[in-house]
Amino acid sequence: MQEINGAPDMDVLESNVRSYSRSFPAIFTRATGSIMLTNDGRKLIDFLSGAGTLNYGHNNQEIKAAITEYLASDAVVHGLDMATPARLEFMETFKSVILRKRDLQYKFQFTGPTGANAVEAALKLARKITRRQNIISFVHGYHGMSLGAIAASGNRFYRAASGIPLGGATFMPYDGYLGPGINTADYLRKLLTDEGGGIDSPAAILVETVQGEGGINVASKAWLQSIQTIAKDVGALLIIDDIQMGCGRTGEFFSFEFAALSPDIVVLSKSLSGYGLPLSMLLIKEELDAWQPGEHTGTFRGNNLALVSGTAAINIFWQCETLSRRVKRTGDLMRSRLETIASKHGNGFAVRGRGMALGFDCLFAEISETTARKAFEKGLIIERCGPVDQVVKFLPALTVDDETLNLGFEIFEESLAEALKHTATPVA
Ligand SMILES: *Cc1c(COP(=O)(O)O)cnc(C)c1O
Repeated sequence: MQEINGAPDMDVLESNVRSYSRSFPAIFTRATGSIMLTNDGRKLIDFLSGAGTLNYGHNNQEIKAAITEYLASDAVVHGLDMATPARLEFMETFKSVILRKRDLQYKFQFTGPTGANAVEAALKLARKITRRQNIISFVHGYHGMSLGAIAASGNRFYRAASGIPLGGATFMPYDGYLGPGINTADYLRKLLTDEGGGIDSPAAILVETVQGEGGINVASKAWLQSIQTIAKDVGALLIIDDIQMGCGRTGEFFSFEFAALSPDIVVLSKSLSGYGLPLSMLLIKEELDAWQPGEHTGTFRGNNLALVSGTAAINIFWQCETLSRRVKRTGDLMRSRLETIASKHGNGFAVRGRGMALGFDCLFAEISETTARKAFEKGLIIERCGPVDQVVKFLPALTVDDETLNLGFEIFEESLAEALKHTATPVA
């Protein structure tokens, strides 16, 4: 095959819906750590990490050894949700290494393999328990593509593609949405506790602690704590969508630990298997496990291979504090580097994020688009997010080494400088 631009096969064979293969026109053949190789011998630095699916990098050797051994032993790979040693070991390991240390008590529900299916399950459970329909979700939030999840997601383009009216969610301003002077949690409380507020009592408040797809918008500790209190006061469940920001991305295993939250339901997916294998689950407070057997089912709930890699990832990375400390240190480095770049170019660019989830807000889509395209030509994979894709998103592997990180930022800075030279954009 030729380079993808010159390879009509992709256009002919795959639906017009394909997206990342357009932003990154190459044929990717191999990958380790933070490096991806293409069939024409290019070497690219990966700062996208499968949109947060590869927190431990591509093809981690130790995790690979665990799944290779599992496959070689003819152990059960697919068994619907039948009991297997792999399933038990995953839950026991997660419970002892992750939950017990944090004084959290949850039951596990494995859902279908997508994050969206886990969000669906969480919303269904909240509605079943409370016998209410309304979900409070937030402007610029993203929760997946299935009808229940997209109904609670803000993006107009994705919503419109659903083809039917989307209901059951009420959108509220996220932390900081109305500017620094306005506490949007107070606004939410006021409306929900006003008998004339016009908002149906919610089954749940569904929130990301950092909005990943929405533009790397960061909620403060105080705001998140207020949201938790409001949920409790109005009889709604607090659901944290930790699909992208969980599994260490913000420094601790769960992104809500810094705010000492105790969510009723936690949704995990993306990096949960640690290897890019599909695996999604809910953590449900024990007293809220109101499901009838089989009420939310699915063929691929808790695939054994993904459970084996997930167990290995927890054992390798979460038995001690080393990775957490490293994420905080690397995150600080990333932030100061991006802030230096932002102030050097002085266009009102903003840097946002927490841990190793950072966003560089270019204000104009034209700048972020040109920057990302040029970066790809120079050997860096970075994606864009935000309502008009005006934010360049940095999600390197949590295990990235300093040299690769620096090289990536050098490419980004050069690409941004070139983009600014070539785009005539108004200065903010
Ligand atoms: C990716 C993502 C989802 C959806 O997960 P899929 O596996 O793509 O269905 C939901 N919520 C958040 C926060 C995400 O980042």
